[in-house]
Amino acid sequence: NGKKGRVQAQTDPVLAQMEQHPETEQQRYDKAKAEIAQVTDRLHDVESEAEALRSRIREERSQAQTDALTGIPNRLAWEERLEQEIARWKRFSTPLVLLVWDVDYFKKVNDSFGHKAGDKVLRTIARTLDSSIRETDFIARYGGEEFVHLMTGASLEDCLLVADKLRQKVEQTGFHFREQSVTITVSCGLSEFRDGDSSDAWFERADKALYSAKQAGRNRCVTG
Ligand code: GH3
Ligand code: MG
Ligand code: MG
Repeated sequence: NGKKGRVQAQTDPVLAQMEQHPETEQQRYDKAKAEIAQVTDRLHDVESEAEALRSRIREERSQAQTDALTGIPNRLAWEERLEQEIARWKRFSTPLVLLVWDVDYFKKVNDSFGHKAGDKVLRTIARTLDSSIRETDFIARYGGEEFVHLMTGASLEDCLLVADKLRQKVEQTGFHFREQSVTITVSCGLSEFRDGDSSDAWFERADKALYSAKQAGRNRCVTG
């Protein structure tokens, strides 16, 4: 009954405490404010953790697509870009030219001056090529001493002119090994993407053109 309930209420320690020190409106307000501040802080922590993770993913993705020796895009990045450019060609039919670059007599560099000298040559050539191409072009290290390069929006003839300038730029780079000045040259095969082409057939034409450049004496660019 009612009488019993009142007795119980009076013996409840929490209620007893409240009766002695009732929490003021101000105290409740301060407590809620502190809790909100705590939750807000935690939310900011979580947000910055998420941002750090996102940037790590970006970083790792870009590392996975970069050639460790030369710092330019690697073959993985190349495959991705190639697919994009072929898809673009199919929609817009703007000229798309593939260039395959190969260092001439590169084995001789390694044999005469050591593998480290060879690595330095690759880094320098990669930098020379990569820093000379247009914004819309793309160059990657395909493997070994071979570089692959896409040029968009220019005819095969115009690409040949550009390629020849790049070739001369490499030729004019002065290398010095063991106080010896060494001229390093590159050869290039070019081919335009055609209607009905597969990327393999296209690559094969450029590669054959490169082979012709080698056969013709190296340090030259040949279209195929
Ligand atoms: P060619 O003018 O016909 O192209 O002759 P080449 O000597 O350049 O061609 P070959 O394919 O015989 O030699 C390529 C050499 O490239 C062999 C290999 O030891 C060297 N090479 C491949 N990758 C690397 C690399 O990452 N660093 C160094 N230093 N050498 C490499
Ligand atoms: Mg080669
Ligand atoms: Mg070579």
